[in-house]
Amino acid sequence: MVTENTNENNIKPTLHFIEAIIEEDLKNGKNNKQIHTRFPPEPNGYLHIGHAKSICLNFGLAKKYNGKTNLRFDDTNPTKEDVEYVDSIKEDIQWLGFQWDKEFYASDYFEQLYSWAIQLINDGKAYVDDLSQEEISKNRGVPTSPGKESPYRNRSIEENLELFQRMRLGEFPDGSRVLRAKIDMTSPNMHMRDPIMYRILHTEHHRTGNTWCIYPMYDYAHGQSDSIEGITHSICTLEFEVHRPLYDWFCEALKIHHPQQIEFARLNINYTVMSKRKLLQLVQEKHVMGWDDPRMPTICGLRRRGYTPESIRNFADTIGVAKRENIIDISLLEFCVREDLNKRALRTMAVLDPVKLIIDNYPGDKEEAMTAVNNPENPDDGMRNVPFARELWIEKTDFLEDAPKNFFRLTIGREVRLKYAYIIKCESVDKDDNGNIIAIHCTYDPLTRSGMPESNRKVKSTIHWVSVKHAKTAEVRLFDRLFNVPEPDEVEEGKTFLDNLNPDSLHIVNAYVEPKFIRTEKLSHYQFERLGYFCIDKESTVDNLIFNRTVTLKDTWAKINNI
Ligand code: ATP
Ligand code: MG
Repeated sequence: MVTENTNENNIKPTLHFIEAIIEEDLKNGKNNKQIHTRFPPEPNGYLHIGHAKSICLNFGLAKKYNGKTNLRFDDTNPTKEDVEYVDSIKEDIQWLGFQWDKEFYASDYFEQLYSWAIQLINDGKAYVDDLSQEEISKNRGVPTSPGKESPYRNRSIEENLELFQRMRLGEFPDGSRVLRAKIDMTSPNMHMRDPIMYRILHTEHHRTGNTWCIYPMYDYAHGQSDSIEGITHSICTLEFEVHRPLYDWFCEALKIHHPQQIEFARLNINYTVMSKRKLLQLVQEKHVMGWDDPRMPTICGLRRRGYTPESIRNFADTIGVAKRENIIDISLLEFCVREDLNKRALRTMAVLDPVKLIIDNYPGDKEEAMTAVNNPENPDDGMRNVPFARELWIEKTDFLEDAPKNFFRLTIGREVRLKYAYIIKCESVDKDDNGNIIAIHCTYDPLTRSGMPESNRKVKSTIHWVSVKHAKTAEVRLFDRLFNVPEPDEVEEGKTFLDNLNPDSLHIVNAYVEPKFIRTEKLSHYQFERLGYFCIDKESTVDNLIFNRTVTLKDTWAKINNI
């Protein structure tokens, strides 16, 4: 497969740009020849497939170069964070197949960050500003002309120290003062125009409780947290490229270990949204069943949908690591899960849109056990018996009364093979008063049973079936795209991404499945022959079997890309 990481001849994989940087560093003996990465989620939502990309990259690099990866919760914004999210993030990373070296929280460093702020004040590099948020933004100006310095910028060190201490002691209300770095109000990079380091927030924190009422900003906390942990390569998405000078400035000003920030393009996928804020809105406004709704691009949603960790890791590898933004087609993700499930899913027969088929010359009291292969891709999965009898369920779409020439399935007078069983010939149909077909009558040829020497007779089509007498009923959830446009975030004025929701993204059908489903192993993977890959939903019970369709068998991505 062609990816950005393969060379022209498509044979020997080449290094992506971050690997090239790391190999150069290792060659030069930098960082004692040990790399240390981190994955730094903010615990304000569940992880999505974009985060999976970052996880695979950070953990993958450490694995490849014998390094380590920390998990660090970037919990500097107490208003939106919660332990529920912390727990789900840990579960998702482990499910993806990765284990962090150490678990840290930016809040572990609040005391250290505070002392460093004092150090910067003492060095004349930080000051307390009494301007309001609006005034600060206004004075910052625009990139093309210099900003305006705050009247509080040249306060004495003593006054700054006293005010900052009183901010910490809770003497001032939210929004009344901030601590700013004193850098350059004329810089063309807006992030360097005296960025805010601390704001006052009288809010309880999910870990530090009420110890703090001032909280560090992302830019002040992130690089220093990396530094404290001895991170060597701090990998983040492209939007942080403009923050890099500030990242570097804090490390230099504090004279602390200086990790290298490297940016790569974030993953975008069409027909979905990927911001946690929007995903939260979908959950809170009940447009979906929850964070793990199988239509969500969250890792728990994909898991419930039947995606495997291998398929997601393979997807991350396939898309590669790039320096420029692009949008990946959702069908590539589907291609990856299809490839993986083809290897591991057990085959079974299920009829989703049933019509009854009666084999008139098959004795009413007779039953046979047909031998079926569980997984042609893996002989170790063995064989199973599928009960066969006179009355079967087949798919409505496998019969057509007025069949065109190129329709090779059932029509009156035509023969097809019933998978693992006999060749049958369609003789007639029964209809109700409205003309709907209620039963299809056939005859079978006993000499054509699969596996018998005479059974080599060729017919153009093979269809699946389930015995009426033996079938189990199951609820099957058929998912379609959650949004009906490729870029749901692109909206006209007055509209929101919610206007692009696909109202038909979930169809529930009552299906008939093979009787073997007596247990409810959650999340087992099956291929319903000829239909697609399905898994047992977490709500499934012994009495109420529920399947989710992971993906259909049809492979549009491979077709488009000629593979
Ligand atoms: P969102 O914008 O979806 O809320 P975020 O960037 O605020 O995401 P964080 O919890 O801060 O989410 O992200 C943790 C890590 O995951 C960061 O290093 C971030 O760069 C990375 N990440 C987030 N989204 C993507 C994405 N779409 N593709 C690749 N990496 C991502
Ligand atoms: Mg973020």
